[in-house]
Formats: sequence, C-alpha cells, structure tokens
Amino acid sequence: MSVLIYIDHSDGQVKKSSMEALSYGVKIAEQIGAVAEGVLLGDVSTDLPSLGNFGIKKVYHIQNSLLQIFDAQSYTKVIAQVAQQTSAKIIIFSNNSAGKSLAPKVAVRMNAGYVSGAIALPETSNGFNVRKNVFSGKAFANVEVKTEIKVIALNVNAFSVSEGTGNAEVVSLNIDVEAPKVKVIGTNKTKGTVSLTEAETVVSAGRGLKGPENWKIIEDLASTLGAALACSRPVADAHWRPHNEHVGQTGIAIAPNLYIAIGISGAIQHLAGVNRSKVIVVINKDPEAPFFKAADYGIVGDAFEVVPKLTQAVKKVKG
Ligand code: FAD
Repeated sequence: MSVLIYIDHSDGQVKKSSMEALSYGVKIAEQIGAVAEGVLLGDVSTDLPSLGNFGIKKVYHIQNSLLQIFDAQSYTKVIAQVAQQTSAKIIIFSNNSAGKSLAPKVAVRMNAGYVSGAIALPETSNGFNVRKNVFSGKAFANVEVKTEIKVIALNVNAFSVSEGTGNAEVVSLNIDVEAPKVKVIGTNKTKGTVSLTEAETVVSAGRGLKGPENWKIIEDLASTLGAALACSRPVADAHWRPHNEHVGQTGIAIAPNLYIAIGISGAIQHLAGVNRSKVIVVINKDPEAPFFKAADYGIVGDAFEVVPKLTQAVKKVKG
C-alpha cells in the first residue's frame, strides 16, 4: 500500500507548500504502515533523489513536453494513471491553487473520498477521520472517509516541514499524456515581489492609507522584511493596488508566519482570508478596530508615523 504525494513546483523549485504535503504524507504512511512516494510532472532544478530527505522512497518523474505548462485536465489524467499504476490508496495534495484544482478532479477519476483543507494528521484508530477547517476557519469538522482510495488536500502552513537525510529512487513510468485542451497565449508575472501564497511574511494595508500615493511606506517595510504585499478589497476595487494583492474571503487566502495589517479594520470577510496566519500584528489608529481582537500584537497609532519607525527599527536590527 502506498501514499502518493503530488509535488508542485514553480520557477524550477519545489514549493514550500509541497514540502509540507510531503512531510504530512510521510507521517500518514508511517502511521498506517504504508510506503510514501512522490509524483512530479515536468522539470525542476531540484536534485530529485534529494527529495528523499522528506522521507519518500520513490519519485515518479513524468517528463513530457506537453506537461511544460500547468493544465489541470491533462495533469489530472497523468496523476490518476500514476496512482492506478502504483496502487496508491491515499493521494495527498497541498491545498494551494494547483492542489485546489487537481485534487477534486483526481478524486472523481479515482472514485475516491475527498477532504479539502485538512489541518491535522488523520485519526486512524477507528476508521479514517480527517480534521478540516469549515466556515472560513471559524469551526472544525472531523470528516470520516470511508472509500478505499482517499484524496486529501492539506491546508498551506497547517503542517511543519520535517527534513532528514535520504535518497529517493527516481522512477519514470509509461504514462499517456494528452495535449492540453487550452492554449496559453501568455503569462503575466508580477516582478520583483515575493509570491503572496508562499510568503513567510506578508505586509498588508487598507483604506487607512488614504490613497495609492502613500504605499511607499508599505513597500519599504515589505522590502526590508523580505515580505509579500497584500491589501484589503476596497483598496483593490479602487485600483489603488492590483487585484492579485487582494486577500480575504473573495480574494486570496493566505497563511504566512507573520501577517502585518496596517490601516485595515478587520472585517469578517477580510479575516476569512488571513486568520490562518501564525502571528498577526495590527497597526490601526482606532483602538476599537475589530482587527485588534484577532491580533497577537497590536499597535494603536497613526500608520504614517508608526510604519516608517518600524521600518527603521527592522533595518537597525538587521544591521
Ligand atoms: P475600512 O473598513 O475603511 O478600515 C480602514 C481602517 O483604517 C479603519 O479601521 C481605520 O481606523 C484605520 N485607519 C484610518 N486611518 C488610519 C491611519 N492613519 N493609521 C492607521 N489606521 C488608520 N474585504 C477584504 O478585505 N477582503 C475580502 O475578500 C472581502 N470580501 C468581501 C465579500 C463580501 C461579500 C462583502 C460584503 C465584503 C467583502 N469585503 C472584503 C469588504 C469588507 O467587508 C470590508 O469592507 C473591508 O475589508 C474594509 O477594508 P479596510 O479595512 O481597508 O477599510
């Protein structure tokens, strides 16, 4: 019996969220006495045998020119074939954007039970029960998966990466790869910024900044911390910042180690996308701002005074 983990990558590097999925899948395999294996589509610059450091024994590496660009339909078919050929009983994805797209499709093809947004190892002493977030992180559900094959998408930042030493065997399989049905006519990359979903630290600002001309202090703090930039929805709606920075219920959901919210009131729809951050720091001039209730640390003050001082202090500490 095997646990198969999908290894997602971008710019030639394995994503941190996939390292979490690998660590999670390896722990499940240990728990149920199975072997953990990975599947990687396309090319990476990472040395593939070194993925054994996460505890997997094999990496199924599927290389084909048709897989150079991510396409959910053709990727789904490839992953399902790998799962069938290797008799995988549990298939793990990160619940990142690729995983959200692939995991339910793979589950349908495999006739598998599917849990999205898992946050802990399954309880396997009596059945197979997976804990997950529901209602935008306001409650938990324990879902019993009764099907023989199970697909789990692990929430980003819900499980720590554990690395040791090991060597994975790199295996190629005979897999049919279909030409993607969609044609990518161009890609638009945000330049010079850290990817929001992968970032360890996110600096985010809201309507309290008054206008787009004031974002320099936010950008300075973000670049000093090596952080990604985010914003509240009204800020993106007003075109002060691009929509790909909008976080929340209707924007991107993030779970960095540190989230710094500046001039954001903390509406429930905003919190829905950021409340899985490990540490939340709120800077707001209104001591009654609802965001303070969700904050680990709060600074009551004017952003235009506090943020430049904070940037200077960070620069001093960093030397
Ligand atoms: P405001 O609510 O105007 O708050 C500005 C804050 O800045 C205030 O707390 C104020 O005290 C503070 N402030 C002002 N001046 C300063 C200063 N000089 N220094 C420090 N602090 C200052 N919102 C999202 O963000 N993401 C979503 O995904 C989202 N989805 C939504 C979905 C639906 C269906 C609906 C109805 C709403 C959604 N919203 C979303 C909007 C949400 O309800 C709030 O309106 C929005 O989050 C408020 O943005 P804000 O905090 O930037 O602005």
